[in-house]
Amino acid sequence: MALITYLTKIQFEVGSRRLLGAELEALGAKAPLIVADKGVVAAGIVAEVVAAGGLPADATVFDGTPENPTEEAVFEAVALFKSAGCDSVVAIGGGSPLDLAKAVSLMATHPAPLAQYAAILGGIGRIGKDKPPVIAVPTTAGTGSEVGRAALLTLADGRKLGFISPFMIPDVAICDPELTLGLPPRLTAATGMDALTHCIETYLSPRDNPPAEAIALDGLKRVAGNIRTAVADGSDLAARTEMMMAALEGGMTFQKGLGAVHSLSHPLGGLKELRLHHGTLNAVLLPAVLRYNAVGAEAKFARLGEALGAGPDADLAAEIVALNRDLGMPETLAAMGVPKDVLPQISEAAVLDHSTATNPRPIGAPEFLAILQEAWG
Ligand SMILES: [Zn+2]
Repeated sequence: MALITYLTKIQFEVGSRRLLGAELEALGAKAPLIVADKGVVAAGIVAEVVAAGGLPADATVFDGTPENPTEEAVFEAVALFKSAGCDSVVAIGGGSPLDLAKAVSLMATHPAPLAQYAAILGGIGRIGKDKPPVIAVPTTAGTGSEVGRAALLTLADGRKLGFISPFMIPDVAICDPELTLGLPPRLTAATGMDALTHCIETYLSPRDNPPAEAIALDGLKRVAGNIRTAVADGSDLAARTEMMMAALEGGMTFQKGLGAVHSLSHPLGGLKELRLHHGTLNAVLLPAVLRYNAVGAEAKFARLGEALGAGPDADLAAEIVALNRDLGMPETLAAMGVPKDVLPQISEAAVLDHSTATNPRPIGAPEFLAILQEAWG
């Protein structure tokens, strides 16, 4: 049987940040911990959301979210949550602060160690609903984490693992496209390609969920029709709104599960010293994975080609290569600085990733390695 669930309350509107205070009140929360990163604070976005949302100007802010969120940062933020007497978490930022905020809510009430809650270590059933509420305010259009059930965290031992549960889904998502207007072109492109990858991978997942597939195709159409404009002219609010909806739709389809692109981008994103951007990794890996997954998927590939605006007979991998080039994305993993000698270790880690189970074509370490070598250049 198909498992089909939609849980998050979503406020999607230009200017919806003004609803933050009312949504906190509706949750019975009075003292939020705001989880952000230094970039979002420096850009003035946290102050803007706090003021517009009617929160006190001295609200407690944790700005120490790293580029890829870590176990260490989770516990730093939990310590602040407790010492400041917080009762809720408001995430303001891209996927990293959103994922960190979910983990802060988890560890505010669940006993350590964090690793025991990782999906591949049997953690799904250990995550209960007794957690402080989370409101997600995305400032990028990409991760879909605002409605997703997963948090991706790098443990102290270097593993980047998924923490997944319906109880990890934020209670409220406040999607205000104006908050993405200042996102620079490179990040607009990279986060937009993450959203595009979510739509494609969840659509191709073999799990039976027709509503999610329809949402994925709709999201893909919106990315294809707007990503070039949003990158070329960041002030285009209509394109920004479409991209934010596409990212949301990509997140609403996570319940189908992702695939081999994410199986590989998760361990690559865990390489701490390289600090590789998740969306950029997906953009670079996607063509090689599509070539691998094309076998036996002709009907679905035809519909993806139509949603992309390239027609049912399109060569999807070639379309993505061309899109990446238009957006100024790097063309290879080598160009991103990934050393060739880590590829075998990444292919082994990808086998264990939670996304591997829903790749449309069975895949193991040798196939992952071949894909990595192709994407490396
Ligand atoms: Zn992603």
